[in-house]
Amino acid sequence: MTAIAQNIDAITAGAVPHQETELTDGFHLVIDALKLNGIETIYNVPGIPITDLGRLAQAEGLRVISFRHEQNAGNAAAIAGFLTKKPGICLTVSAPGFLNGLTALANATTNCFPMILISGSSEREIVDLQQGDYEEMDQLAIAKPLCKAAFRVLHAEDIGIGVARAIRAAVSGRPGGVYLDLPAKLFSQVIDGHLGAKSLVKVIDPAPAQIPAPASVARALDLLKSAKRPLIVLGKGAAYAQADEAVRALVEESGIPYVPMSMAKGLLPDTHPLSAGAARSTALKDSDVVVLVGARLNWLLSHGKGKTWGEPGSKRFIQIDIEPREMDSNVEIAAPLVGDIGSCVEALLDGLRKDWKAPPADWIETIRSKKEANIAKMAPKLMKNTSPMCFHSALGALRTVIKERPDAILVNEGANTLDLARGIIDMYQPRKRLDVGTWGVMGIGMGFAVAAAVETGKPVLAVEGDSAFGFSGMEVETICRYDLPVCIVIFNNNGIYRGTDIDPTGRDPGTTVFVKDSRYDKMMEAFGGVGVNVTTPDELKRAVDAAMDSGKPTLINAVIDPAAGSESGNIGSLNPQSTLKKK
Ligand code: ADP
Ligand code: MG
Repeated sequence: MTAIAQNIDAITAGAVPHQETELTDGFHLVIDALKLNGIETIYNVPGIPITDLGRLAQAEGLRVISFRHEQNAGNAAAIAGFLTKKPGICLTVSAPGFLNGLTALANATTNCFPMILISGSSEREIVDLQQGDYEEMDQLAIAKPLCKAAFRVLHAEDIGIGVARAIRAAVSGRPGGVYLDLPAKLFSQVIDGHLGAKSLVKVIDPAPAQIPAPASVARALDLLKSAKRPLIVLGKGAAYAQADEAVRALVEESGIPYVPMSMAKGLLPDTHPLSAGAARSTALKDSDVVVLVGARLNWLLSHGKGKTWGEPGSKRFIQIDIEPREMDSNVEIAAPLVGDIGSCVEALLDGLRKDWKAPPADWIETIRSKKEANIAKMAPKLMKNTSPMCFHSALGALRTVIKERPDAILVNEGANTLDLARGIIDMYQPRKRLDVGTWGVMGIGMGFAVAAAVETGKPVLAVEGDSAFGFSGMEVETICRYDLPVCIVIFNNNGIYRGTDIDPTGRDPGTTVFVKDSRYDKMMEAFGGVGVNVTTPDELKRAVDAAMDSGKPTLINAVIDPAAGSESGNIGSLNPQSTLKKK
């Protein structure tokens, strides 16, 4: 036993120091605190000062997945949080590593995914006097406005409470990103082992149920019963809540058509008779009472107004959300229902079961016929067997893959690759579609794919635009290193939106194009994975099936017609174009 430990023991316990007291340190306390709270995996990029933390965590039985870039580790942690309702943990080095992780932390917060970014930092004394430390940066101050909560721990005996606060902040109420700042000196602080053990906190009921007020339930039921053309909108909050049975019962027992937001697809199968996904425009425009279940009226729902939503004043909203301040964020919410989705939906069901009349048949028929017409219009486009492929024919093949393998997880990013896949690929099970989310951010692909495989053990199909893939492409090495069942399909159309732009001056490649006819499949082969180049939908389907059957890391370069895409996919209206452009 060291003299320091004897002193600490004597001072803090007020007792005569015993000879055999074990010691612990900051490294071990962080690991013990995470383990005590059921954390099983850390998404990590090693370096100063957290190299040994990752190493020790692995030795202590945590799964530590080391990435090549912190943004990808952070995205992995964020989606792990979405999939498990436990905060995903991302571990980074100081300043630049921290900043790289911060994009993912901010994105997690925006998407309401629970995650904790733990970054090592340099010494407070030097940082605060701005004396130029190694990787000097006031990380806590920088993180604060970009996440839900931020904490710093300076003393080893506070690690337990610091980790507990971070966990509770991440998962209670509206979930989000939390930053935990751990200065280098903390890790090697040594304290008495018993004191250390006693300082740990197991968070009890980290995300307590939030029961809606009876009056607000009654108000919502009254409004819903008055509806002639009711509609339910399911958002990714509903997927996150894991109240799958209650949500399904709400739709099926009420007989109300529903539109799923992107990451809520599969909560009920997209082929469900009450799905209005393929009649989305009609459903939003012509409905009179809309129940929002864990979906925000942000840009993805045209802010609840404008021509998407029909005549001004034609709509009344019931909104279920755990965050009271979400109500009236864009338009008046006639019946706010504040609480967790499970409790709120159960409360509505209780009321409906007492007295409910199915929605008018003409409304159901309007939706059904519109949906059938849209599906019939799309069908032939999906069946073409052309070479090079267009987006539709390639996605037609992948649509069949997911139909045959409904438990596979689909990761999806890009512009056309994203917007068209969202509409074309039907999902059959909850939390199987992971995509660019609220910000529409590029770069989530490989981080999400790794975490989806690690957290669920299911096969992952990552459908990536060639540009989108580039943001996280180096993680193919990570996928090979951990031998994960991930099949990446790159829709290679030689560029962003299209591969056809040219530099009018003739000097350089156009700003949106990449190397023509590149072979992304060779990247995978470089690390021992399987690479395949395909030019037809049949070849694509066969290659994906082989990857899914073998479980081997695979990258399929799917050659898409460079002229096939449209500018910004479905959101060209958000991409301003100069009217003064030279012809
Ligand atoms: P989408 O993009 O699918 O519309 P959003 O991210 O806009 O989804 O909305 C998700 C909403 O769900 C957020 O407002 C969030 O507060 C809410 N939410 C998340 N988890 C829960 C939960 N367990 N109970 C109730 N609401 C939740
Ligand atoms: Mg492209």
